[in-house]
Amino acid sequence: MRVLVVEDDQQLLQQVAEALTNQGYVTDTASDGEQAHYLATVESYDLVVLDLGLPHIDGLTLLRRWRDEGLSFPVLILTARGTWHEKVSGMDAGADDYVTKPFHIQELLARVRALLRRASGHSSSLFSCGDLVLDTRQSQFFYQEQALALTSHEFRLLAYLIHHVDQVISRTQLTEHIYAQDQERDSNTIDVFIGRLRKKIPSAYIQTVRGLGYKLTQPHA
Ligand code: CA
Repeated sequence: MRVLVVEDDQQLLQQVAEALTNQGYVTDTASDGEQAHYLATVESYDLVVLDLGLPHIDGLTLLRRWRDEGLSFPVLILTARGTWHEKVSGMDAGADDYVTKPFHIQELLARVRALLRRASGHSSSLFSCGDLVLDTRQSQFFYQEQALALTSHEFRLLAYLIHHVDQVISRTQLTEHIYAQDQERDSNTIDVFIGRLRKKIPSAYIQTVRGLGYKLTQPHA
C-alpha cells in the first residue's frame, strides 16, 4: 500500500516516512502544498497523511481541491493541539481522521491501518484469503500459521493483492502501488515477483488473468 506524507517539518516528515516504510508501506514525501498537489495528481496513493499548516498551498485548501477533483484516497490530517476548529474544518473538507501533534508514532500507524482497513471494507486488522493471512499490526504474512519470509517488494505486492482479494489487478496498478516515486519501475519485474511468491505460497492463490493482470483468490479444494 502506497502512502504520501505531507509535512513541512523535515524531522517529523522523516520520522513518519521511516516508520511507515518500516511497516512495509511504500512511502513518498512532500514538504509543501504544491509538491503534494502535484504528486497526488500524477501518482496513485492508497492514503495521504496531511499536515494542515504548509507553505504554498495550505493543507485544507489542498484537501478541498483533491476532493473537488474526485481524488478519494483516505486522508489523515495532522493538527496542532488545542485547535479544535482545525479538526472540524478538516473533517468537513473531506478528511477521514486526524492525529493531534505531538503524537506517538504508534498512534499514527494504528490510525493509518484503520483507515486502510476501512477503505477495503475490513473490520479486522487481519486480512485473509484461504490459509493466507496478513496481520497488519505486525506487517507479517502467514501461510497455514507459519510466518512467511518475504522481501520488501514481495511483501508490498502481496499486501496490495490481499487488500483487493478476488479483484483483477493490472501490472500497471501493481507497479504504481509497490514503488515509491523515486524508484525505477519496470512492469516486467512484477512477473518476476509473482513467480517468486508462487514458490512461497501455493501457486493457485495467484491467478493470471490473461491480458488483464493478476488476482489473489482462495483456490478451490
Ligand atoms: Ca506545518
